[in-house]
Amino acid sequence: MAVFTTQRLRWAVFLVLSVAALTAAIWMTGSWARTGAVAVAVRHAKGDANLRAAALEADLDKHRALPIVLASDPDVRAALANPSRKRYAVLNTKLEQLGEQTHATAIYIIDKTGLTVAASNWRSAASFVGSRYGFRPYYREAMARGAAEYFALGTVSKAPGLYLARRLDGPAGPLGVLVVKVEFEDLERAWAKLVDPSFVTDSNGVVLISSMPSWRLRALNPLPAQERLKLRATQQFGASRLDPLPLVRTPHNPIIKVDMPGDRRQVEGQIPVDALGWRVHVLVPAGAAIDAAAGGARAVTALVGLAFVGVLAFGLFLTGRAERQERRRMEAQMELEARVVARTAELSEANARLQREMEERRRAAAELQRLQEQVVQANKLAALGQIAAGVAHEINQPVAAIRTYADNARAFLDRRESDSARENLTIIAGLTERIGAITGGLKNLARKPAAGDLATIDLNTALDGAMVVIGHRPRRQGVKISREGDADVQVLGDGMRIEQVLVNLIQNALDALDGRGDAALRLRVEGDPVKGRVIVTDNGPGLDPEAARGLFTPFVTTKPEGLGLGLVISRDIARDLGGTLEGGAGPDGGAEFVLSLRRAS
Ligand code: ADP
Repeated sequence: MAVFTTQRLRWAVFLVLSVAALTAAIWMTGSWARTGAVAVAVRHAKGDANLRAAALEADLDKHRALPIVLASDPDVRAALANPSRKRYAVLNTKLEQLGEQTHATAIYIIDKTGLTVAASNWRSAASFVGSRYGFRPYYREAMARGAAEYFALGTVSKAPGLYLARRLDGPAGPLGVLVVKVEFEDLERAWAKLVDPSFVTDSNGVVLISSMPSWRLRALNPLPAQERLKLRATQQFGASRLDPLPLVRTPHNPIIKVDMPGDRRQVEGQIPVDALGWRVHVLVPAGAAIDAAAGGARAVTALVGLAFVGVLAFGLFLTGRAERQERRRMEAQMELEARVVARTAELSEANARLQREMEERRRAAAELQRLQEQVVQANKLAALGQIAAGVAHEINQPVAAIRTYADNARAFLDRRESDSARENLTIIAGLTERIGAITGGLKNLARKPAAGDLATIDLNTALDGAMVVIGHRPRRQGVKISREGDADVQVLGDGMRIEQVLVNLIQNALDALDGRGDAALRLRVEGDPVKGRVIVTDNGPGLDPEAARGLFTPFVTTKPEGLGLGLVISRDIARDLGGTLEGGAGPDGGAEFVLSLRRAS
């Protein structure tokens, strides 16, 4: 969840920054392109202004030469020095011709009294001849200083034009003033064809010449009231109101809003023209070019910027994906580690469980052992029940016989037949011996073994002890005894009781071999890692079928004097010692008994 939020936050920040950066870049490049386009337009306007200024100056220069040339003309000087109708008529014709040749609007001569004495327009109705222009500033200035250049409206024609005046001096002082009036209609017409608005202003900012006729005699900037009054007083521009041009300028902004049809946003190029204090202005429409340049730059920036943002976004996506993969790998690793920890815990738990189970098994085994011992004891008690019945049966017979023999002995004594009585008493004594033997055997069987008193017994040593108890009987019977097997086999047990078992087995074998010619008894000691064994093998008649069925059963015997308790007691001893006693047919046709006991470590 936290990671998801971080990712989203990162993308949100990226988006905001991208939009901000893109917007700023678009705005900046648009602004640069705009500035560039304005600069180009301004250069263009300046170039145009230069061209127009050059044309204007060429025109002015041409006309300025005229008064200079005429000032030295002998006809002009002669007419002014010695005025006459005829001389003036000659001058009129001359001036007329000159005017036609130079395209000057009017060329005329004013005498020192201010009266116009000759003029190029002498033929027309608006002829200057006879007019008094002594009040005109250009006349006064030329008379005072020698020359004057003055732009004004004509008093008769009301047409604006530049008056170029030059004083004519004679030996006795000024003779008069020669004036050339130049109007700029041709220039204006030529400029009007060039589309871009252009105009010429004087030092007051009043438009003197313009490609737009309606802009003529309007002010570049609103004129202060005082200035206007002064101009009105000179009548330089007649009754013109000198309204401001329809241009709106903004400080520090080269773009001028022009109130005219078409592209209203224009830039201006202006250039001063010679010494008159005039300036040539050219307006160049720039709005469309600026818009196109800014739009193009913005579009290119947007495209490049979007591509860049796209690349960045792709980079961000790749970074995010790499981070996600790394995170997944870390999570997988952590999960793996967690699983390993869990599995380890499970294994530890299983191990502990196993330990507990082993402990329980040990306890169960100990309990089993205890129960088995109880069972053995119970079996023994059960056997005792059998034995008690057997004992009653076995003992009743001798007891009944003793009673009979006792009664007989008493009768023999009554009859004083003491020999017979003694014989009967001897028989009684024999019968009590038999009863004693029965009870002796039973005493052994009923004994409960003491737990935990087992010693390490060497089986060969136990066998040696048993052979001592057996004594010379084998030799007397002519039985050949062979000892075989391993020398050093240690078992857990009780020496006396192991000997008792071995004595019993050997005596049974000797009983079976009684009266046999080639009687042989084999005694073999064996050991393996777990058990130690004594194998008693004879070549007697083997087990009687009845004895085989009731082997290890109390009182089962095939011998006339037998008690049938030897094997029962022997197996009981073997079990008490943690071992076994097995019996069966031997390899030589006789019987074989095997006593197995636990190996002492
Ligand atoms: P007893 O010797 O008093 O009969 P045992 O319990 O020692 O009692 O023997 C039971 C019977 O097992 C014997 O009466 C005999 O029939 C049989 N028996 C024991 N050992 C041998 C043997 N080596 N060969 C043949 N029979 C045997």
